[in-house]
Amino acid sequence: MLYHSTRNCLSTVDSAQAVLSGLAPDGGLYVPEKLPQIDVAACLQEDTMQMAQRIIGAMLPAIPNMGELVRRAYSGKFQTEELTPTVDTGKFTVLELFRGPTSAFKDVALCMLPQLLTAAKKEKGMQEDILILTATSGDTGKAALAGFSNVEGVKICVFYPDGGVSAVQRAQMVTQEGNNVAVCAVKGNFDDAQTGVKNIFASAVEGRLPAGNRLRLSTANSINIGRLAPQITYYFKAYADLLRRGQIKMGDKVNFCVPTGNFGDILAGWLAKQLGLPVGKLVCASNANNVLTDFIETGVYDRRRPLHKTASPSMDILVSSNLERLLYFLSNDTALVAGLMQELNTKGVYEVPAELKAAIKEEFWAGYCDDAKAKQTIQNVFENQKYLCDTHTATGWAVAEDYVNQTGDNRPMVVLSTASAYKFPAAVLSSLTDAPEMDEFAQMAYLEKLTGWPVPANLSGLQEKKELHTGVIEKDAMLAFVEEL
Ligand SMILES: *Cc1c(COP(=O)(O)O)cnc(C)c1O
Repeated sequence: MLYHSTRNCLSTVDSAQAVLSGLAPDGGLYVPEKLPQIDVAACLQEDTMQMAQRIIGAMLPAIPNMGELVRRAYSGKFQTEELTPTVDTGKFTVLELFRGPTSAFKDVALCMLPQLLTAAKKEKGMQEDILILTATSGDTGKAALAGFSNVEGVKICVFYPDGGVSAVQRAQMVTQEGNNVAVCAVKGNFDDAQTGVKNIFASAVEGRLPAGNRLRLSTANSINIGRLAPQITYYFKAYADLLRRGQIKMGDKVNFCVPTGNFGDILAGWLAKQLGLPVGKLVCASNANNVLTDFIETGVYDRRRPLHKTASPSMDILVSSNLERLLYFLSNDTALVAGLMQELNTKGVYEVPAELKAAIKEEFWAGYCDDAKAKQTIQNVFENQKYLCDTHTATGWAVAEDYVNQTGDNRPMVVLSTASAYKFPAAVLSSLTDAPEMDEFAQMAYLEKLTGWPVPANLSGLQEKKELHTGVIEKDAMLAFVEEL
């Protein structure tokens, strides 16, 4: 199975090369020529790591020894051997994706990506070191740093928006140890940091990055197919749990509601469906940055609007990179996708043809939820379902409720929970009670006492750790920063 760019299908690479490159040379994203099929019934009998081996192996067939890679990626790193447990709250089923080493759903993919990259590098006989360059709105940064720390033959550099991540997220990143890690704040928002990273990639392609001779650039953002493939697994895992609990029969369709930013998580759900999983509607939940809600409703993607800072910062995004993959999959038309992306770049807006709009609506439903409603939802869910959710998960929960109310679709609904409540203690605490002013670390302790839910081990004690990366730079200094690595 070969991969090509979403913007041009003429030049193909194998899956090992697609993982190594991250982005295609024309700026498009790598997509498989043809999606694989797997034995779904057999897969649903397996434990999570076996599922991962089967699914990632099918998506990335050029990378050998997948079973070994999966074991190395996940063994002993998550709170539970099932990696991503589900909780039946009596209303929705919550799929907990935050039981990994940094309490973020991105751990699922970013524990795996270093294994995939180093294996792909070996497969291709590549000599140079890889430099992983990543812009983060908070969670990707720490999960990537933790995943890549001290991995041989790889360096990692993370840029985050100055003041645009929570104190806990910042502390997680700036205390990261490892002989191959760099972290730096950028004056600007997440889109500025992401644009800066894209520009550095462009400089390397044009030969304007001298370090490009000794380092090969790659990315840990979800534009890398090696990041996306591992995320397909947990949709199968959730379905298997519903089967085991007798809540569904084999073949019954299940809906999933996904708090969405870059569209990677929800696209993994759509890929699970293409691999044969009986998925019903994929509900796309946004916060006040509701570009995707408007797009799925109207077919017009319009990024010309202010970026709102919300209580769910990992979803404060105006350009959802992975949507480009969906546009390709549903149209099969690279010229169309290239044209739309060109319009997005030059005009900040595009409109998809009517058939494509209809195809998207067939598979997806979209809604959004502002901060006030997310906070109300945290309180309601804690009171009624005795479940403590973070702001991102609450956004998903609220939109899932809207979906059920507006459509009457009563199929089982799985809400993806993307972060521990303790990663966003200020917002969660103020949703539940009027606590006095205190810093985020005191809020964590307060929240633990209030709810009886334990602080994850990786977050307690963070405050005592030494800050190792305290730099802040202008956005046009990012290239120079990378040159120094
Ligand atoms: C990254 C992230 C999301 C959004 O996931 P995408 O794949 O970018 O859509 C949602 N919630 C949290 C907590 C995240 O870290």
